[in-house]
Amino acid sequence: MTALKQFRGRLVLIFIAVAIALAALLHLVSYQFVLKRLNRLSGAVVKLSRGDIQQVSLDNKKDEIGLLNRAFTGMSAEIAQLVTGLNARIAEKEQAERAARKLSKAVSFSSSGILLTDQHLTIEYLNPFLTDLLGCEERNVVEQPLNILLADEMQQLSAEITQTLHERQHWRGDILLQHQKLPARQFWVSLAIAPIRDDIGTLLNYVCAMQDISFIKQSQKQMEHLAYYDILTGLANRSYFRDQLRKAIAMAHRGYYNFALLYFDLDEFKRINDTLGHDAGDELLKEVARRLKSRLREEDTIARLGGDEFAVILSGIKDRHQASVIAGNLQQAFHEPVKLGHHEVAISASIGITVAPEDASEEELLLKHADLAMYEAKARGKNTFHFFSQDLNDAANERLQIENQLREAIREKQFLLYFQPKVDIRTEIITGYETLIRWLRPDNTLVPPAKFIPVAESTGLIVQIGEWIIWEACRFLARQQSRGYDVTLSINLSVRQFNDQDLPSIVERILKRTGIKPRAVIFEITESMLMGDTDAAINQLNQLKRLGVSLSIDDFGTGYSSLSYLKRFPVDELKIDRSFVKDIPQDRNDMDIVAAIIAMAQKMNLRVVAEGVETAQQVEFLRNNGCFEVQGYFYSMPLAEQELNQLTYTVNT
Ligand code: C2E
Ligand code: CA
Ligand code: CA
Repeated sequence: MTALKQFRGRLVLIFIAVAIALAALLHLVSYQFVLKRLNRLSGAVVKLSRGDIQQVSLDNKKDEIGLLNRAFTGMSAEIAQLVTGLNARIAEKEQAERAARKLSKAVSFSSSGILLTDQHLTIEYLNPFLTDLLGCEERNVVEQPLNILLADEMQQLSAEITQTLHERQHWRGDILLQHQKLPARQFWVSLAIAPIRDDIGTLLNYVCAMQDISFIKQSQKQMEHLAYYDILTGLANRSYFRDQLRKAIAMAHRGYYNFALLYFDLDEFKRINDTLGHDAGDELLKEVARRLKSRLREEDTIARLGGDEFAVILSGIKDRHQASVIAGNLQQAFHEPVKLGHHEVAISASIGITVAPEDASEEELLLKHADLAMYEAKARGKNTFHFFSQDLNDAANERLQIENQLREAIREKQFLLYFQPKVDIRTEIITGYETLIRWLRPDNTLVPPAKFIPVAESTGLIVQIGEWIIWEACRFLARQQSRGYDVTLSINLSVRQFNDQDLPSIVERILKRTGIKPRAVIFEITESMLMGDTDAAINQLNQLKRLGVSLSIDDFGTGYSSLSYLKRFPVDELKIDRSFVKDIPQDRNDMDIVAAIIAMAQKMNLRVVAEGVETAQQVEFLRNNGCFEVQGYFYSMPLAEQELNQLTYTVNT
């Protein structure tokens, strides 16, 4: 029993051991062939479910698990492919989104106006720059047609834009936009419209890009304004005026249309400018422009041609009478003095008028006529108007002829000097002569200096002629001095000659070369030459005085010289103008003036000479008032040198 029992125990033990071994073997086998593979598969499933799409290699055995594995591998490969594709798409999309964000930032921060519309030009989007510019909220204009942004006068362009877009897909141009809140505010933009299409070319949108070019347009306008208007006064300028004149002429050509051309020149403007300064002068011009403009009709043209010259075209006038009524009215503009700072300045203008097509119907001729008429108005005492006439034209032509002949006269030496004695009425002794030029033409006609000196002056020929006069006069004086005569010689200087920088050196050279005593030479200048730039005048006078010559003020009493004014100039002599002497003894007024001039000259220690003395009464009057030196037909006419010995008066020695 015991042994059986032991055997049974052993058997049980063996059985258990075999069972364990079998179980272990079974486990090993099932693990190796089923569980392990299932584990790998489930691992792969877990991995895949976690998003790890790395391929896990599974076996491909022919059993069920192998089949499962194969199916799973196929599926996971497909999933992997899908996920990679998806990821790539997402990355692409993200990149596109980033780019779009960048673009939209750029658009919204852009300092150009950018606007999107649909294919029918209905607004879909505007960038902030444009909403600011237009003064509107995006929502107020979105879904509205593009043309609501355009200024009224641009509306007709919107059809053209649509048309062009239709034909050429693009439109580009400058356009005026309307501010959406302020009706008065409009601004120019340069606009470009381009289409946006999808991949297959269907039109989706239009993009409109615009630059604010108001400032360019404004400077363009300013430039046009500069080209047509006078900056100072805002009136039309010369070139615009010419345009208007041509238009008026063209209308006159068509008949039944007259117009008048008026030329204005302010009297004494230069003097105001010189004494009160250029700013005051500018103010004056502006005021004159304002006043004239206020008196003209809308249809008339007024321009400033330069300096103190203005011109007016009176359009559609009936006749001369109407023109003179309007001119009279315009002249009223000068009645009130102009206030310039602390000064009140009296102003006046000389006006020349010509009527077209009656006087002329060509531009240049009309301008010339108006100019001539204006100069005539000036010559007739200023502050007046004068119509062009044929006589004026003749006179102008004569001046032109003289100008041409003068050049020849200089070449051919057709000038002569005459000499008029100056006599001391106490002793009836000749104390000096005045040199007076004569022009003897080849046909033996004598042209009086009053006819040709102004022409010589205006053409500048006087400088040349004047130098010749000084030479000849000094040679005459040298001959007188060599004969032992102690006489003075008065030489007239014209404006240009006096203003000539070279005058002192010319005189110096002539004095040296002729060897005359300088103190015997007297230069005669007029008061008007001392006006304007007085410092320059004083300087010139001093330079002449330094040469030892004397200076005399000719035609004294006709200018503006006041006593205090006169004191500033280093002059030695006054010549009382003939106009005051001529009516002695009839005109008491003139006699008072002459007496006053003589008294004044004596007080200022100036010599005084009366000119134009023709009668014994005049001599008597002068003597009684203490003026002893006279010149005039009473003693002698101006004579040629060889005629002087016919004179019965003794010459001072
Ligand atoms: P002015 O300098 O006042 O010359 C005096 C003018 O009065 C001269 O005229 C002279 O002939 C004239 N005259 C002299 N005595 C009498 C008189 O008793 N009665 C009248 N009725 N007239 C008298 P003229 O020679 O015709 O010269 C006229 C002006 O031409 C001069 O006026 C002067 O301004 C200018 N002129 C004459 N010669 C010259 C010259 O050599 N150079 C310059 N720059 N100007 C000259
Ligand atoms: Ca003189
Ligand atoms: Ca004189």
